[in-house]
Amino acid sequence: MNEALLSAAAQELKAARNVLICAHIRPDGDAIGSLLGLGLTMQAAGKRVEMVLVDGLPTSYKFLSGTEQIVNRPSGVFDLIVTVDCSDTSRIGSALDGYRAPDINIDHHITNEYFAKINLVDDTYVATSEILADFLPQAGFALTQPAAAALLTGIVTDTLGFRTANMTARAFRVAANLLEFEIDLPEIFDKTLIQRTFEAVEYWASGLARLRKDDGIVWTSLTIQDRKEAKYPGRDDADLINILSGISEIDIAIVFVEQNPHRIKVSWRARSGLDVSQVALGFGGGGHPAAAGADIRGTLPEVQEQVLAATIALLREHSYAS
Ligand code: AMP
Ligand code: MN
Ligand code: MN
Repeated sequence: MNEALLSAAAQELKAARNVLICAHIRPDGDAIGSLLGLGLTMQAAGKRVEMVLVDGLPTSYKFLSGTEQIVNRPSGVFDLIVTVDCSDTSRIGSALDGYRAPDINIDHHITNEYFAKINLVDDTYVATSEILADFLPQAGFALTQPAAAALLTGIVTDTLGFRTANMTARAFRVAANLLEFEIDLPEIFDKTLIQRTFEAVEYWASGLARLRKDDGIVWTSLTIQDRKEAKYPGRDDADLINILSGISEIDIAIVFVEQNPHRIKVSWRARSGLDVSQVALGFGGGGHPAAAGADIRGTLPEVQEQVLAATIALLREHSYAS
C-alpha cells in the first residue's frame, strides 16, 4: 500500500479525539473484527470512540470482549469518521445519515469505490482486519489482547479458516503475530465457523429443499416466510452459500435472500479462475473475484431470472476465452 496514504491515515488517527467507526450492513466477522480491532485500539490510545453496526451484533460474536460497546447508531460529534470493510457508501446503510461523508475508508474489496478523503484500500489483503493488524502497529498504535482477538476473528472468518484461494504467506504471518496475544483460536473457529443455532439449520432446510442445478451453477432462495417459520432472527442466508459452494463439480453457487417483496440480496461464490465480483458490480453490488454480493430491486422470480442470465453469460465468456 502507498506509504504517503498510510502516513496520512496514521496522522489523522493520531490527531483525532472523537472517532466514529462504522462497518457494513448485515455484518460478517471481518466487519465486526475490523470495527472492534480499530475501535479498541483507538480507545487504548485515549480517544473517545463510537462503534456502529446499524443491523446490530449477531449473537455468535458476543464472545468477543468490547462488543458490548457497539451501538446501532451514532449519537455524538466526531472529528474523524472511518468506515471499515465497506466497498461503497450503500454498504454503510443509514449509519451516517445526518453526518458528513467518511474521512477514512479502510477496505480490501477489489470493487471499492474510493468514497472517502483517504482510502486505505488494498485487495491483496484477505480481510480488512488483516490491513488493520498490519497497519496499526506500523502507525505506532499498540494492539491490546481484545483488539488482537477481534482482528484475528476477522481474518479467520473472511478466509473460512485460512482456506480461501486468496490466502497469502503475509496473512499467515499477520495471524501468527496476533496469536502472540494468547488468543483462544479454537474458540474463534468454534463460535464463528462451526456452531450453528437450531433455527439457522431449520432455515437452511427450506433453502436446501428448493436447491437447483444447471450449467455448472447451483442456486436456491430463502424467503421472508422461511425465516418466520424457522424463527431465524437475521435477514442473511445464515451462511448457506458456503454449503452450496462445497458441492463438487460446480463453477458457481448463488443464494437469493428475500429482504422484502421488492428487494433481494444475492450472494455468489465461484471456483478459482472466475470473477463474480464483476457480475455483482453490474447489479450495483461488489465483492471479491471468488465471493460477491448485491442488493437488487425486484421480486424473487425477476431477480433470479436476471441474475441467472448474467451468471450464465459470464460462464460462457469464460469458456470462450479459455
Ligand atoms: P456475502 O455474499 O454477503 O457473504 O458477500 C460476499 C462478498 O461480497 C463480501 O466481500 C461482501 O462484502 C460483498 N458484498 C455483499 N453484498 C454486497 C453489496 N450489496 N454491495 C457490495 N458488496 C457486497
Ligand atoms: Mn465483510
Ligand atoms: Mn472483508
